[in-house]
Amino acid sequence: MAGDIHVLRTPAEVLAEAADDRPNRFCFQCRRRTAHRWFLIGDPNPSYYEPTPDCRCERCGEDHTAFPGCFWDGPRPVPASVATALATDFRGRRSAASESEESETR
Ligand SMILES: [Zn+2]
Repeated sequence: MAGDIHVLRTPAEVLAEAADDRPNRFCFQCRRRTAHRWFLIGDPNPSYYEPTPDCRCERCGEDHTAFPGCFWDGPRPVPASVATALATDFRGRRSAASESEESETR
């Protein structure tokens, strides 16, 4: 019907996760040093959209590592060691998923 709003949502799941490269990053929301984890969020199925890396404070669940009022110019860069760990976890989950699919068809 005319006037209806259609929102296209792509499934967003955690495809991989890894600990941050620094064990205690300062969170400006919690105002203390907390552990952070990186998550790779995206569509588990083949998708037009690339998965998005997302850093979250384990206490508040958000990324407040930038000084208040400061913003990253574009997506926050993923530390190299985190990118490697995310890729390893991603491949591990993929192979585990394909193994379970194989066992289901037997
Ligand atoms: Zn926090």
